[in-house]
Amino acid sequence: MTRSVSIFGATGSIGANTLEIIRQDPEAYRVVALTGGRNIKCLASAATEFNAEIAVTAHDELLESLRDALEGTDVEVAAGEKALVDAAARPADWIMSAIVGFAGLPPGLRALEQGTTLALANKESLVAAGPLLMETARRSNARIIPVDSEHSAIFQALNGEDLQSVERVIITASGGAFRDWPLEALSKATPEQAASHPNWPMGERITIDSASMFNKAMELIEAKEFFGFSTDQIEVLMHRESLIHALVGFRDGGLMAHVGPADMRHAIGYALHHPGRSHLPVERLDLARIGQLNFQSPEPGRYPALVLVREVMAAGGHAGAAFNGSKEAALDGFLDGRIRFTDMARVVEREIENISMDGHGKAAMTLESVREADRVARVRAQESMAELNR
Ligand code: NDP
Ligand code: MG
Repeated sequence: MTRSVSIFGATGSIGANTLEIIRQDPEAYRVVALTGGRNIKCLASAATEFNAEIAVTAHDELLESLRDALEGTDVEVAAGEKALVDAAARPADWIMSAIVGFAGLPPGLRALEQGTTLALANKESLVAAGPLLMETARRSNARIIPVDSEHSAIFQALNGEDLQSVERVIITASGGAFRDWPLEALSKATPEQAASHPNWPMGERITIDSASMFNKAMELIEAKEFFGFSTDQIEVLMHRESLIHALVGFRDGGLMAHVGPADMRHAIGYALHHPGRSHLPVERLDLARIGQLNFQSPEPGRYPALVLVREVMAAGGHAGAAFNGSKEAALDGFLDGRIRFTDMARVVEREIENISMDGHGKAAMTLESVREADRVARVRAQESMAELNR
């Protein structure tokens, strides 16, 4: 029986890895929607290869180029944010949410509303709107399978276990591009230097977030929102090799570690084949050759994001949306050369001070209220960046 699948963010790093797994057994799948942003060539080529029902670009002005690129095929074309959400409403058995940033939230929510299985790579949607996403899934009987490697690892370690018996969860962190840099050098780091990860090939934004540890900070919120762990149950452990992705500690003192190569195709394939397992083209680890694995506590002072996120988790509610919005705006500022690497945490810190003042945490959460918290955070981040440059 063929399964129908859609991939949001098909032109990105996770999207390409997802298509690669589907390509292994094309007869088993029928591709409904593929979406992308600016990379029209890649989107059109994937839509043609997989004979997608529809290809959607997020950008209205690129509709004509997409239409031209798909001329002579049966693939429907569409563009814009509404078209993305409409594509998420098309029935599909399995939907990959791999758009980068807040833009992944509306189609992710719409996909959940149809009661499908959502493979969730777009961590920003859980950070900004965790309660809304989980409640939407619960109401429509949809399933969310985490794709972020740490959360896939936790999910796998929890197989057959009672959540009540979990004492703690340990999320590992490679330390990113600057883990061995002297602290004083960080303020001079360029986007190009930040975008080179020691262990994982990923999209540019998440790679820079790994260097600043905002990625890990977001993963703490993901773990809280998705599994329902409390803030003080979730720990971060530095682990240079990125071979253990997470560990779950139980009340009898046992620790279940998930060990595997640093290759997202494992977590994507796990989410695709869940609850079964199928062959995946990933490296089989030779632990004798690897010899040793290293662990360390995060060095205090090096990663302010890990401190800031604890306040966000304690505040709850819309604090996640404010945190994510200000972080995304600060990352844009760093990429454009408006602020320094170390200023990103300062911009987010100011937003967190604001959150505690305007009591964001309390209001009921809807897509509109989350959009508003995101919008306000981005405006305030622009003000903070302007002030930092004064
Ligand atoms: P990429 O930057 O490689 O890809 C992002 C995708 O989103 C592309 O298809 C891009 O289109 C599309 N996109 C960009 N902006 C918009 C927008 N405004 N509206 C709609 N679509 C848009 O990112 P990754 O694949 O690395 O990451 C995707 C998500 O998965 C992120 O949330 C990331 O945090 C998460 N993740 C990624 C991991 C990885 O290994 N890469 C690991 C764990 C989580 P285009 O390129 O055509 O412009
Ligand atoms: Mg991760």
